[in-house]
Amino acid sequence: MKHFFKNKIFISTICLAITSLTTLFFINRQKQPKDTENSNNSPDESNEEEENKEEPPEEKESSQQEQPSPEEHKPESQREEQAPSQNNNSPQNQAWALILVNKQHGISQDFGIQTTKIDGIDVDVRIAPHVLGLIKMAKSQDINLGLCSGYRSIMTQNQLFQREVDGLIAKGYSRSKAEEEASRSVAPPGTSEHHTGLAIDCYSNSQKNCNLVEAFANTSEGKFIKENGSKFGFILRYPKGKEHITGYIYEPWHLRYVGEKVAEEITKSGKTLEEHLAIA
Ligand SMILES: [Zn+2]
Repeated sequence: MKHFFKNKIFISTICLAITSLTTLFFINRQKQPKDTENSNNSPDESNEEEENKEEPPEEKESSQQEQPSPEEHKPESQREEQAPSQNNNSPQNQAWALILVNKQHGISQDFGIQTTKIDGIDVDVRIAPHVLGLIKMAKSQDINLGLCSGYRSIMTQNQLFQREVDGLIAKGYSRSKAEEEASRSVAPPGTSEHHTGLAIDCYSNSQKNCNLVEAFANTSEGKFIKENGSKFGFILRYPKGKEHITGYIYEPWHLRYVGEKVAEEITKSGKTLEEHLAIA
C-alpha cells in the first residue's frame, strides 16, 4: 500500500512535469508566430516605403497627362493643314482638279459645281480649305492677301468681256480688233477658267480694290503667292512669256488649283498647265 502510494505520487509528479513541459512548449509555439509576424512587419513596412517611393513618379506621370504640352497642340494644327494635302493625293481629286479650259478647250455652259463663299467670292467648295490655308499662311506673315474674283457664270463672263470690248471700241478699235485684243486678258464667254470655280484672282486687301495689273507681281502679296501657292495646290496659270501657249498675258494675280502634287511639279518645271497635260 505504501509502495502504491509512493508510485501514485511519482506518477502525479511525472504528469505534472509533462503538463508543465507541454504548457511551456505551447507558450513557445505561440511566441514564435508572434515573432514571425514582427519579422513580417519589416517587409510590409518596406513595401509601404517602396510604394511611397513610387508615388512621386506616379505624380509626375499624372502631371504630364494633365499639362497639355505644346507637342500635343502641334499635331492638331499640323493635321489641319495637312488634311487637304492628303486629299490632294487621291486620284478622284486629281481628275476634277486637272480640267483644262482655254480658248481651244471651251467649257460647257451647263457645267455645274457646288460653290461656297470666301470673303464674298464664290469658289468650288473642294478648294475652299486650300484657299483659306493660303490666306491664313499669308496672314501669319503679315501679308494681307484677299480675293478679287473666283467662280464666274456665263452671264458674268459675257458682261466682263463686253465691257472690255466696249472700252477698246471707245478708244477707236474696230469691233473685231477690240474682241481680239480683249481676249488677251479677258476670256471670251465659254472659255473662262473661272467658270470651273478652281481659279481665283488675288489682290492686296490693303489696296481695297481689284486693280489687277502686272505690278502686282512686285507686291508682297504677289511674291507670296508665287512662292507659296503650290504648297496649297495652286499654280500661276498664266506665267510671263507663255502667252503663245496659254493665250493670255502674264497674270501674276491669277491662281489655278490643280492639286498639290501637280502644282509642285509645274512650279518646279516652269511649264504651263497645257504643257504639263500634253506630256502627262
Ligand atoms: Zn483670273
